[in-house]
Amino acid sequence: MEIRTEDGRPCRACVSVGDMLKKGREMAEKFKKGEPSTSTTTHKDCPADKDELGRATWKLLHSMSVYYPDQPSEEQKQKATAFMTSLSELYPCDFCAKDLRKDLKEEPPKVQSRQEFSQWMCRLHNKVNEKMGKPLFDCSKVFERWRDGWKDGSCDY
Ligand SMILES: Cc1cc2nc3c(=O)[nH]c(=O)nc-3n(C[C@H](O)[C@H](O)[C@H](O)COP(=O)(O)OP(=O)(O)OC[C@H]3O[C@@H](n4cnc5c(N)ncnc54)[C@H](O)[C@@H]3O)c2cc1C
Repeated sequence: MEIRTEDGRPCRACVSVGDMLKKGREMAEKFKKGEPSTSTTTHKDCPADKDELGRATWKLLHSMSVYYPDQPSEEQKQKATAFMTSLSELYPCDFCAKDLRKDLKEEPPKVQSRQEFSQWMCRLHNKVNEKMGKPLFDCSKVFERWRDGWKDGSCDY
């Protein structure tokens, strides 16, 4: 099944598996009415959908923020900001990237320290959570979640 952006580019990273299943059900209905489906997918190593890509990207972004230097050099500050700007230009889900550009304008990256950058990243993610109607993450737990593991020891080796 091919998903396309509004301007016609193929974009699996713009839809979730849930969206695709919905589309699949619509196709099944069409099939019942005599229009054959062409889907024969059996691979596990398929291109990332919107949610898989999102989870992987947040994993990188939060990890980057909690390992960011406590006292970054000017160059590191510039690179952190430039990374987020580039992401907002190149992120494959086009409407996500558009909203990210808006979010970065509203609150530009805070990169003076690890604490600042990791909290800023958490707020950025919470903006997306809020937009999607998901629960907000408690930003005081960002180091437990992304660097040290939970205090109950459940992530210890
Ligand atoms: C920059 C960016 C913009 C996106 N924009 C959109 C969009 O506009 N529309 C859309 O449909 N999807 C968007 N996505 C994808 C979306 O955010 C989710 O990644 C996707 O829906 C999968 O959600 P999930 O519930 O599996 O967990 P995710 O939201 O991917 O979260 C992964 C894990 O991060 C942790 N977490 C959650 N919130 C926070 C937080 N605030 N701080 C720290 N850790 C946290 C939780 O442990 C969670 O399990 C975007 C992704 C990125 C990276």
